[in-house]
Amino acid sequence: DDNTALCIPKPALRRLPGYLRCLHALHKEHETWVSCTYLADYLKMESSLVRKDLAYTGVSGRPKVGYEIGLLTQAIERLIGWDNRQDAFLVGVGNLGRALLGHLEPSLHGLNIICGFDIDPDKLSTEVRGKMILPLNKLPDLARRMHIDIGVITCPAAAAQSVAELMVNSGMRAIWNFTQTHLQVPEGIIVENVDLASSIAVLLTRFAELKQHD
Ligand code: ATP
Repeated sequence: DDNTALCIPKPALRRLPGYLRCLHALHKEHETWVSCTYLADYLKMESSLVRKDLAYTGVSGRPKVGYEIGLLTQAIERLIGWDNRQDAFLVGVGNLGRALLGHLEPSLHGLNIICGFDIDPDKLSTEVRGKMILPLNKLPDLARRMHIDIGVITCPAAAAQSVAELMVNSGMRAIWNFTQTHLQVPEGIIVENVDLASSIAVLLTRFAELKQHD
């Protein structure tokens, strides 16, 4: 239940989608059982860590055969909340916003962005993959009426704080922030930052190290 999900350490939670990927692949090949060792090899991890992570699902493995793939899949999906997919609104339908609107797959990612908002009149009344782009001033009313808890911010960094405040004032409680702005939000509001710049910096540093050994 929800309480179990709260007990999972964040790093373990972040590894769960990897297990799902492997389970989906096995399911496609009509497999029924999977072992810790198999999952560990597939994901290049220690099998003791896999066993520890999977203990949070409450599904127990059987000696010799391992875990039942269907059961384990369901349990993991429930843990990450993918079996009750969350609806979200996105603000800032530029290149990045458009990519997220068009390519996030609700059944794979658990998040269903149902429409986008923008202030640029040229972008309004257009659609991205059948999703409407609406004027930003419609967000508060719609968010409340549709009980949307999650907001995705892909507008320019300079506008991010005011967009976050609009979201919070509209009753939204979780923000997926793709801008470089460090958002100030009231207590009880969750912000998850996707920091492309720091991710690139890590990549470049590691690559520079690799090149030193050429
Ligand atoms: P494009 O050239 O299509 O606008 P972009 O990714 O270069 O793409 P950005 O300048 O990053 O555009 O802006 C992203 C989107 O955010 C744009 O669609 C822009 O109209 C929108 N935007 C700008 N300011 C705000 C704001 N205050 N609130 C909501 N959306 C905004």
